[in-house]
Amino acid sequence: MNETWTPLKLLAWTQGYFARAGVDAPRLTAELLLAHALGCDRVRLYLDFDKPLAEPELARFRALVKRRAEGEPTAYLTGVKEFYGRAFRADTRALIPRPETELVVEAALAALPERGTALDLCTGSGCIGVTLALERPGARVLVADLSPDALALARENAERLGARVELHQGDLFAPIPADLRFDLVVANPPYVPAPEVPGLARELQREPALALDGGEAGLAVTRRLVAEAPARLRPGGTLVVEMHESHLEVLPALCLAAGFASAEARRDLGGLPRYVVARAKA
Ligand code: GLN
Repeated sequence: MNETWTPLKLLAWTQGYFARAGVDAPRLTAELLLAHALGCDRVRLYLDFDKPLAEPELARFRALVKRRAEGEPTAYLTGVKEFYGRAFRADTRALIPRPETELVVEAALAALPERGTALDLCTGSGCIGVTLALERPGARVLVADLSPDALALARENAERLGARVELHQGDLFAPIPADLRFDLVVANPPYVPAPEVPGLARELQREPALALDGGEAGLAVTRRLVAEAPARLRPGGTLVVEMHESHLEVLPALCLAAGFASAEARRDLGGLPRYVVARAKA
């Protein structure tokens, strides 16, 4: 077979193939993978739209298409994910940054003074803490994770993006110096209720279970986080925590029971309850 494959022809074919295979955003996914195979950006694909691909480029692209159709997330194939306008490195060491978490960052920024002190727990790729450090260069930002692998990825992201963050490995607040008090504690902990984990999309099954599985009711980690947070916050400080949609009532109640002065659940752009903002007593 001596067919010539131009970017346009390949994208059209792959889009249809992905659609039939049940892959999300088939056109965008085809573009991201083709750009990755060619080592260019997506705009370039359309500048060179009728220039036939060389065989090694085609082979690279075919291998990526196959792996994507088999359920590997696009970000793990390309090794990058855009978050808050920046390119974060993504791989199987941590959860892939999600657009809904950008709202958590917005709420966190609103609560972080110019020269304030912030702590990002369960940092994973580092996307929250690194973004805070870059958006608030005068603030002091600590990030922590239980997983040494995740923390290594967070370190790479901080270094590549030029963010100054202090990294700590350990369980929630355990590795954080006991005398520090924060204006802001933020976290995207594992919050998927354990019974839902086996039913998650196959793409999510490729992400670390440690980053997703929140135990019974999805609150195992969040419960401890909320209970320990008041002692680590300054008076009037803020806790922002991403949550499962089923936590709309229970999480604000847990915050109030832990001694917070107020707690408000907020929704994501899809209208689902997605994070809580709790204020410590003044
Ligand atoms: N947002 C993830 C999902 O799609 C869950 C992330 C988490 O548990 N922190 O289910």
